[in-house]
Amino acid sequence: MEKIKNGALWVFCEVQGDALLPVGLQLLGRAKTLAAESNRPLYAIVLGKIPQGGAELLGASGADEVICSDGPAMKDKLEQPYADCLIALAKQYQPDILLVGATPFGRAFAPRVAAALGTGLTADCTELSIEEESGLLLQTRPAFGGNMMATIKTATQRPQMATVRPGVLPLPEPAETTIREPIMIPYNEAAGLARLLKETAITKGADISQSKIIVAAGRGIGQKKNLKLVQALADKLGGQVGASRPLVDMGFCPYSSQIGQTGYSVAPDLLICCGISGAVQHLAGIGGAKKVIAINTDPKAPIFAVADYQIVGDCVTVLEHLLQELDK
Ligand SMILES: Cc1cc2nc3c(=O)[nH]c(=O)nc-3n(C[C@H](O)[C@H](O)[C@H](O)COP(=O)(O)OP(=O)(O)OC[C@H]3O[C@@H](n4cnc5c(N)ncnc54)[C@H](O)[C@@H]3O)c2cc1C
Repeated sequence: MEKIKNGALWVFCEVQGDALLPVGLQLLGRAKTLAAESNRPLYAIVLGKIPQGGAELLGASGADEVICSDGPAMKDKLEQPYADCLIALAKQYQPDILLVGATPFGRAFAPRVAAALGTGLTADCTELSIEEESGLLLQTRPAFGGNMMATIKTATQRPQMATVRPGVLPLPEPAETTIREPIMIPYNEAAGLARLLKETAITKGADISQSKIIVAAGRGIGQKKNLKLVQALADKLGGQVGASRPLVDMGFCPYSSQIGQTGYSVAPDLLICCGISGAVQHLAGIGGAKKVIAINTDPKAPIFAVADYQIVGDCVTVLEHLLQELDK
């Protein structure tokens, strides 16, 4: 395996069903710049079965090589055998940086890897960059309830590990690649005692972090019945309903629609915010939105600072007008 160099930048690319999750590609897009700036090779790491065409897609997303490790222990997608496999790979090939998507699986799996390798892990980063003088990874994430941003360095331990939530980084434009197949590394450990008996999806419907159009409601929507207007506009535009945390806490909306630091990060082409103040914890989830329209009665609401179009007014009235106009 002389193709695999020590000191590389690794991106763990998670497979779900028979597809690669977009967060791995998003991480590769950013990692390509980090790798170029710090002169490190960039490897995409897939554990278990790699989907057909997966190696080529990862190459087109920026990987210099695609490494896949599979074996009997990887038959079920369980955190411990996957972590054990990555720990073994990391001990052998000594990556300098290891990035993981903060999916439910990634959140459970990455800390096991970090603990076993005796290194740190910065969870839910919103920004990654390279410190020019040292080449260290700068891992930025909200701290103190989102009221400030902390930039963290792993100065002495290796690998430098960070997770980033799906949707925080954009998908890279696919580029030419010569990669067609992964470098296969067999993992010969026997399966452990745990078995996956059944998988049940906990959210129904589309994933909000992938939605291209979102109409989001905040406390300014007033009563629960007004959400019908938000849903009607989302349906008309072919989008989804999002919510600020208070609406989820009040039971008006499911958690799967919560946007923000403790909800989902979204990156739609269009985001319409109805009665949302724009608290830092909410803004932490909408940095990827391309166009933002905000409707708020308070002209000084912080949401207006990040909005491309500001409508000062009652969101119920504005939504009714918008729906009437769209009906015409
Ligand atoms: C650790 C932590 C994590 C958090 N995570 C999240 C998170 O993930 N997501 C999240 O959203 N929040 C999160 N929060 C909560 C966050 O701090 C805010 O409390 C929350 O975002 C406010 O929601 P809101 O904008 O709907 O409500 P409010 O802040 O109450 O704002 C309501 C807005 O509606 C406007 N308004 C009132 N009436 C109308 C009307 N008729 N028409 C139009 N506008 C009107 C008001 O002017 C106001 O700007 C978190 C907080 C903490 C401490």
